Amino acid sequence: MRLVLLGAPGSGKGTQAAMLKTSLGVPHISTGDLLRAAVKAGTPLGLKAKAVMDAGGLVSDDIVLGMLEERISQSDASGGFILDGYPRNLAQCSALESLLDRIRQPLDVAVKLDVPSELIVERIAGRAAAEGRLDDTPETVRARLRVYAEQTAPVADHFAAIGKLATVDGVGELDTVFQRILAALPA
Ligand code: AMP
Repeated sequence: MRLVLLGAPGSGKGTQAAMLKTSLGVPHISTGDLLRAAVKAGTPLGLKAKAVMDAGGLVSDDIVLGMLEERISQSDASGGFILDGYPRNLAQCSALESLLDRIRQPLDVAVKLDVPSELIVERIAGRAAAEGRLDDTPETVRARLRVYAEQTAPVADHFAAIGKLATVDGVGELDTVFQRILAALPA
């Protein structure tokens, strides 16, 4: 299964992706995690990305695509993947489609987790307390939600237009949302 998980920051993508990984037996590829690992390792690329991430902006398309290509071409992703946090804008969407065409692994479905914005803000505040993510401050969260509305929401529209979008209600217990996602996946 080759799946893209879409949803605003705090919509539960990361948690659901981890559950899907176990259930589907394919790796969870999170561009946010790849970038955080590069920041932690202090690589030149990580240093470049850090300031943008701390401000809630989007890291440059080239940097993220390079990391994604490297990760997706590893052997564990040959049978499929769950992509979390990518694509974040329409340019990344075309880049992903070209990449998947090239490796002859077309996307099966994009699943969008739908969560009202009031709940998102509450959830991110909870995550900030639990995980201490530097980009979970109220100011950064606002910036990330704005970026999502302006740049990432059109990506869902694109997948809808090509008949590959499944929208799932992301409000409820983790397992309830998880069952909804499973039910929305193509056979
Ligand atoms: P996430 O863990 O997906 O919420 O990502 C955390 C931060 O990493 C985002 O706010 C961006 O700064 C950066 N990031 C993650 N994925 C991407 C992407 N596909 N394109 C650009 N920046 C990204």
